[in-house]
Amino acid sequence: MPEPDIERVLLDAEVIRERIRGLAREISATYGEREITAVGVLTGAFVFLADLLRELPNPTRVIFARACSYRDGSRPGELEVELVGRPDLTGRDVLLVEDIVDTGRSLLRLGQVLRDAGSRSVRSVVLLDKRERREVEARADFTGFEVPDEFLVGYGLDYADRYRHLPYVGVLARSVYAEPA
Ligand code: 5GP
Ligand code: MG
Repeated sequence: MPEPDIERVLLDAEVIRERIRGLAREISATYGEREITAVGVLTGAFVFLADLLRELPNPTRVIFARACSYRDGSRPGELEVELVGRPDLTGRDVLLVEDIVDTGRSLLRLGQVLRDAGSRSVRSVVLLDKRERREVEARADFTGFEVPDEFLVGYGLDYADRYRHLPYVGVLARSVYAEPA
């Protein structure tokens, strides 16, 4: 049973677990036995990152990135990216790990920053893809699930830092964020 704030469960824990095993197979087939430098995007990707890396046979380093958007007037400002701890990515095979792609702006910008950091290769894996919402050309190399344009929480995804701990991905009930009448 989901909790009352969840309108419906979209992907339950077992479905997610199975898909992550499949993603891990696709990823290791691509990298062979090479070391992967996984870059988890804070904060939403932390659950997916933890589960995915434990299914991957490759030796892996883990770092985190933070992406913040600034808005000036009506135009979305350039997304600012911080690599936590300023790691040296020279020559690394980088795998960007994201929870969800929506407009595609975060994925695009993060990819640029990681390539500019001197990495040998940059690929990306996203758990969820809202393809119909895309505003810029950005496509992950590995995708877990295509999802509808609804506000999702759970399995790392939040609303006001809540619901990240839920073991499933669910649709948040509108009553949680709608203005009271
Ligand atoms: P993009 O740059 O692709 O528009 O934004 C991706 C980011 O938007 C995600 O990393 C996530 O933080 C946020 N986002 C997009 N859709 C959802 C959603 O349904 N639920 C939550 N919790 N965050 C979302
Ligand atoms: Mg995010």
